[in-house]
Amino acid sequence: MGPDIRNKIVYTVKNRCRVCYTCVRECPVKAIKIINGQAEIVPERCIACGNCVEVCSQGAKNYISTIDSTFSLIGGREEVVACVAPSFPAEFSEFTDYRTLIGMVRELGFSKVVEVSFGADLVAKAYSDYEREHPEKTIISSDCPAIVAYVEKYFPQQIGKLAPIVSPMIATVRLLKQKFGNEIKVVFIGPCIAKKGESDEIDDAITFEELRLMFKSKNISPENSVASDFDPPHSAKGAVFPVSKGMLTTIGKCDDVSKGTTIVAEGKKNFREIIAELDAGELDAKHLELLCCEGCIMGPGMSPNGRRYKRRSLISNYVKQKLANLDYTEWQLDMDAFSDMDFSREFTELKAQTSVTSEEAILEVLVKIGKLEEKDHLNCGACGYSTCRKHAIAIVEGLAEDEMCLPYTIEKLHQSIDDLNISNEQLASAKQALRQSEKLAGMGQLSAGIAHELNNPLGVITMYSNILLDESADNDEMRADLELIVEQADRCKKIVGGLLNFARKNQVKKVEIDIEEFCRRSLNSVLAPKNVTMDIESNMHDTMACIDTDQMMQVLTNLEKNAIEAMPNGGTLKLTMEDENGSVRILISDTGSGISQENMDKIFTPFFTTKGLGKGTGLGLPLVYGIVKMHNGQIEVESNADPMKGQTGTTFKISLPRE
Ligand code: ADP
Ligand code: MG
Repeated sequence: MGPDIRNKIVYTVKNRCRVCYTCVRECPVKAIKIINGQAEIVPERCIACGNCVEVCSQGAKNYISTIDSTFSLIGGREEVVACVAPSFPAEFSEFTDYRTLIGMVRELGFSKVVEVSFGADLVAKAYSDYEREHPEKTIISSDCPAIVAYVEKYFPQQIGKLAPIVSPMIATVRLLKQKFGNEIKVVFIGPCIAKKGESDEIDDAITFEELRLMFKSKNISPENSVASDFDPPHSAKGAVFPVSKGMLTTIGKCDDVSKGTTIVAEGKKNFREIIAELDAGELDAKHLELLCCEGCIMGPGMSPNGRRYKRRSLISNYVKQKLANLDYTEWQLDMDAFSDMDFSREFTELKAQTSVTSEEAILEVLVKIGKLEEKDHLNCGACGYSTCRKHAIAIVEGLAEDEMCLPYTIEKLHQSIDDLNISNEQLASAKQALRQSEKLAGMGQLSAGIAHELNNPLGVITMYSNILLDESADNDEMRADLELIVEQADRCKKIVGGLLNFARKNQVKKVEIDIEEFCRRSLNSVLAPKNVTMDIESNMHDTMACIDTDQMMQVLTNLEKNAIEAMPNGGTLKLTMEDENGSVRILISDTGSGISQENMDKIFTPFFTTKGLGKGTGLGLPLVYGIVKMHNGQIEVESNADPMKGQTGTTFKISLPRE
């Protein structure tokens, strides 16, 4: 027991944490670190106040149990004395006579059961004497171990003000050893978990909760134990120690509170404020009576959900009854018997404060979590820290994570949803493109088969009809029919050629050429009527690119022919060339009729044409599409067919990788 377990009293139960940050919010010294979404106690910072144990609804924080070691003390050779804290009437309210409880404690195997409140009487006298001897000195009460740990760790410069007087528990241990010899073992039973690490003078400290578990494990009940009173020495007013102003009542100094020379503060917020003000030199009070919990009656070792004022009245009823039955002469004799004892103690500087964080680092974190300006500092407290700045400092110190900031996390979530939506859209269009190319591939195979089969008979038809035409006389009446056969057979050959082109799986033979030059050549190779103006514009810095010139020429001329055919009443055909990072872009635009919305989806489908029987083949755009894809390029169309919406016309945009 004692200081060696001091930093290990509270521990985390792994994986129970559901990251609600309640413990972070409730911890008065911010000794809880969130790492990988789990709360962890930082031992050097912890003062064992037990707040986190009380507030965690998931049971992810616990305090170490000393039940086993207490049982082994009882089972040992030495005599073991139990000393019971004065808050017991607030815990064991189910017993109408407190002697029932004392009998049960004895039944566990303790040789004696004494009340710590006699130690409180002695400590109260020691405080009175000390204050009388040091009238000018400001003193901080040192009976609460969490307060002592707080000053030692966070305000080491103030440890000189801690009253150098032991707690009632240690006073009790010392008097018991004086009375019964040094060999005896002493176990404290109380509401406090910080007592477990207070001093190595005590052999073990268990909580009232643990005491209940011990009764349960040994099946001890009022029925199978014999009620009995505490062993002497019996206490007087010291029994009110565990409530607010308890010590002042004991030393008879309650009036000093109204005079302002004494300040009483309890609870995790108040004690910190007082010590900070004291440290800043803003207080002139002489005595600070501080308790970390709201009175020891609200300590973390009490059963949960107890009500504070009910507990207070239980204590005062007990004290009233006690004082009414007190044998004052005997009490005074006991007090005199121990008056010469040494009740002094010392304190150690422990320094839990981490290094000072740089303003730069804090700012960097604030920017990262979106707190760029003062108005972004919502200080909502959802992270467990009261301000965004404190949260940022904790992040810099490695105690907290960005994700703890709710507004930041929500924004990140929205961002991820947006990103997901975008990739969903991309996926949908990729799927559409895949379907299109599968369709084209299927069509390609079929048409290649048919075209191949038709090619030979068509050749025979063309050859023989040409021979017949050559041999026929100029006035032969069959001549016109023959000419029609030759013309239509030629047309069939063209279609079959187109089909073969479309299905062609040959490789792309890329050569590096000047794209500007190439585009100009393509325009020259198409025949345009007089009412169509041809225009070319280049915005390229680097005009060189690698393409399969034969295939690409087919692409351009097909698109140009389509454009011209879409402008029967004249218009402008324009080619624009641009650089695009790593690619070249060619735009072929016309001021023609445009493509209706319903046809937009069909134009790349083989045999789709709007040009009437005998005019269009519907193989131009599928061919264009195939070639562009074989170049790892992209093709897009924009078109307006509605004069109400402005100039009609179509633009095909092709982008091709430069390499
Ligand atoms: P074809 O030219 O033999 O009809 P294409 O595959 O080249 O076959 O074109 C398919 C269809 O797409 C055309 O019939 C036409 O309806 C439409 N189209 C293509 N380019 C244009 C354009 N520049 N303006 C208007 N419609 C076009
Ligand atoms: Mg065409």
